[in-house]
Amino acid sequence: MSSYTHLGSLFLPLLLLLLQSGELLAWQDYKDYKVFELQPHNEAQLKLLQQLAQAKPHWEFLGSRRSHNETGLRVLVSSTQAGSLLTLLQQHQVEYQLILDDISVVLQAQREENQRSKLRLQLPQIDVMGAFYTHAEINEYLDSLPQRYPQRALLKTFGWSYERRPLKLLTINNGDGRINKPVIFIDAAMHAREWIAPSLALYIIEELLTKPEEHAEVLKDYDWVIMPVVNADGYEFTHTDSRYWRKSRKPTWDPENIGTDLNRNFGYMWGQDDGSSADPAEEIYRREYAFDQPESQVVRDVLLHYSDRLHFYLSLHSYGNYLLLPWGHTSDFPANYYDMLEVADAGAMAIVHATNGIYSYGSGYYLMYATSGDSTDYAVGVANAKVAMTMELPAGGWTGFDPWVSHIEGIVTESWVGVRAMAMEVIRRYAEQS
Ligand SMILES: [Zn+2]
Repeated sequence: MSSYTHLGSLFLPLLLLLLQSGELLAWQDYKDYKVFELQPHNEAQLKLLQQLAQAKPHWEFLGSRRSHNETGLRVLVSSTQAGSLLTLLQQHQVEYQLILDDISVVLQAQREENQRSKLRLQLPQIDVMGAFYTHAEINEYLDSLPQRYPQRALLKTFGWSYERRPLKLLTINNGDGRINKPVIFIDAAMHAREWIAPSLALYIIEELLTKPEEHAEVLKDYDWVIMPVVNADGYEFTHTDSRYWRKSRKPTWDPENIGTDLNRNFGYMWGQDDGSSADPAEEIYRREYAFDQPESQVVRDVLLHYSDRLHFYLSLHSYGNYLLLPWGHTSDFPANYYDMLEVADAGAMAIVHATNGIYSYGSGYYLMYATSGDSTDYAVGVANAKVAMTMELPAGGWTGFDPWVSHIEGIVTESWVGVRAMAMEVIRRYAEQS
């Protein structure tokens, strides 16, 4: 018995070491990847950068700006590709600046920060503002909620990801027993690397569940339906393998390229080359057919399930401080555009009053770029949502996608002010119609 224990104490550290080195082998460390900030000064230079952004897979463009008056565009580039990028920029006299020489150092420090923050983690309890959690950890937390809030939290597995992860949907109400209230549906992490989005979804869940009196007004006549992680496989992959992964993980016809942009795979005005791509090498790859991803199917099914009472659909993304309204696929506006605009205005004003945070809002087509096959166009075009919106949360870290753990609190508390104000405006406009 004692020798067995003794053996165990020898093998356990060895096993842990092996597990850790296995994990390190799988982890793309982005060694010597550099971050440049580019400053286009006219439309021609901006157009060049847009063309470069599409010349995949050479450069990872981490931001997108439509107007050249806005601040710079950040690019993550490997050391082997940096030379040819700079040659091009110099040829076209685009101003640029090296802002980070080796992002692997930052990524490693962030991983350590996150792992340290989780040392005291006692699932199913989580500290929303204390760490970034994996999909498995988030699910364990969600699983505990119906028991902790039996009258107010209902959890349903609405479908499965390609790699068979359960996609869970939490419904929060005020416990008054009324059924079929109108719905506010919030999803997050359709794009894997946008880690701050699930953090906000979790924060909203905590606020609504732990402070029912404070939030009585937004819970009285509405059910809140929340899916904190849509792209479960991609999101898990950003924790285990590659921090800047965006797409899903289902293979494509091209063995070189895995994954689809879920937010270009929705079946309303799907398949336009302006706003999506048929090339699996690109980050906005739309796939051969709409809805051939299990994850976009699940969001579709949720939207359709609630379509007779879907008053507000909010899809959380990062980054850029935008409230993006349909349409993404055309410069035209949907019939209720000006109502949606006033909801966005309520959110932006609440945030500026609370923290001086500045959000731009309006049609996604005008504010950012064309998007074909995104979830908000589908929500309004097919699922009858009164208001649908993509919220691009604030940037964090060096690339915008990678805030530090210490940034979570500031971003989620500010964003919740905006989300709550928008919910109030939706309720003010539409509650009596139901
Ligand atoms: Zn996104």
